[in-house]
Amino acid sequence: MSFERIKEKLNILADAAKYDVSCSSSGSNRTNKNKGLGDASSSGICHTYTEDGRCVSLLKILLTNHCIFDCAYCVTRKSNDIKRAAFKVQEVVDLTINFYRRNYIEGLFLSSGIFKNADYTMERLVAVAKKLRLEENFNGYIHLKSIPGASDELMREAGLYADRLSVNIEIPTEKGLKLLAPDKNRADFIKPMLKVKNEIIQYKSEKKLIKSTPKYAPAGQSTQMIIGATGENDMQIMYTSNHFYKHFNLKRVYYSGYVPISNDSRLPQIGSAVPMLRENRLYQTDWLLRFYGFNIEEILNASHQNLDLDIDPKLGWALRNLHEFPVDVNTADKRMLARVPGLGMRSVHKILNARRFNKLNWEHLKKIGVALNRAQYFIVCASNQFERRDLTPEHIKGLILQNSKSKYTSMLSTQMSLFN
Ligand code: SF4
Repeated sequence: MSFERIKEKLNILADAAKYDVSCSSSGSNRTNKNKGLGDASSSGICHTYTEDGRCVSLLKILLTNHCIFDCAYCVTRKSNDIKRAAFKVQEVVDLTINFYRRNYIEGLFLSSGIFKNADYTMERLVAVAKKLRLEENFNGYIHLKSIPGASDELMREAGLYADRLSVNIEIPTEKGLKLLAPDKNRADFIKPMLKVKNEIIQYKSEKKLIKSTPKYAPAGQSTQMIIGATGENDMQIMYTSNHFYKHFNLKRVYYSGYVPISNDSRLPQIGSAVPMLRENRLYQTDWLLRFYGFNIEEILNASHQNLDLDIDPKLGWALRNLHEFPVDVNTADKRMLARVPGLGMRSVHKILNARRFNKLNWEHLKKIGVALNRAQYFIVCASNQFERRDLTPEHIKGLILQNSKSKYTSMLSTQMSLFN
């Protein structure tokens, strides 16, 4: 195979992979052994592969952009008239090793369109990872995108060689998926996810008893949802997300704003991409659920089905629940401190530590790094200055926005290209 042909394939298949954002790679610490090659560190290595051939940490490609399915939101769908290509297993292995040696990448993110059927495709993805690990002694990071509908046996094997596995649930609701991806069946995502979840649990518990038990998908599993291709509101999106976190032990859910790419009456018009700020608000909500102890019902519910675009979800919750405030920073518990706008978890820990020695006042809080321009309306401390006045939620919001509006204006525009 000529170098030119490989380069051409690379251009086609790296470009086709750019719509997948679920390839962050934090959480793995596979160490180098037996004088092998590479080492996946636990720091976040990611994300993308640029159009002009430059790698940014991960070699992010599809094995093929041939596909037997016709999902309306996907450039790779069979009815789309585009250049097609497919790598051989050995070609992906060689590219990964060559790029790694040149220090272009720290790992591989490999996804694929579906050729023939799920198992035929998955077998080849697994073969790439297996060859890298067993023949090339490659200890760098590998993220494999699992093919919906792949057999249990292949999913089990995939986790023995990959650091992370992911199956994209694509569209937040079953109804939306039926409309845009009639060939797909939600059960085909659930089965491999469940398999991976159970294998991770089993391998972990076996490892406690038998040290030589191999690692199984040590960086866990993740998924991606396309936002804005169908008309789901933020409540539907985040309830789906919450369900998958709870029942499948996911490490991450990624939210990818739909970029209209075709004239299809089922889809938003070309030029009406999802504002980047909407994605950002979903990620902030996701963060509040995972690290700040919020329940999804507190942030999104029947009377508040969409996130505010002008304020972040924690501030939105606080303004709707002013009866929970003010919080006394010298006595409040960790859970309540974490709910104060302007207090991140780092500040919360610093407050808990500092108040063991001092009654905290505004000066102490400033030194700790609390964002007082927000927090001052929701807290009291050992000081009379700036005590919370009887302001309405609208007034507080207005005062906070006066200082922060400009920061978000640019994000109301459509989503930036992943490759800019
Ligand atoms: S199965 Fe995957 S690659 Fe194929 S059209 Fe659907 S989303 Fe695209």
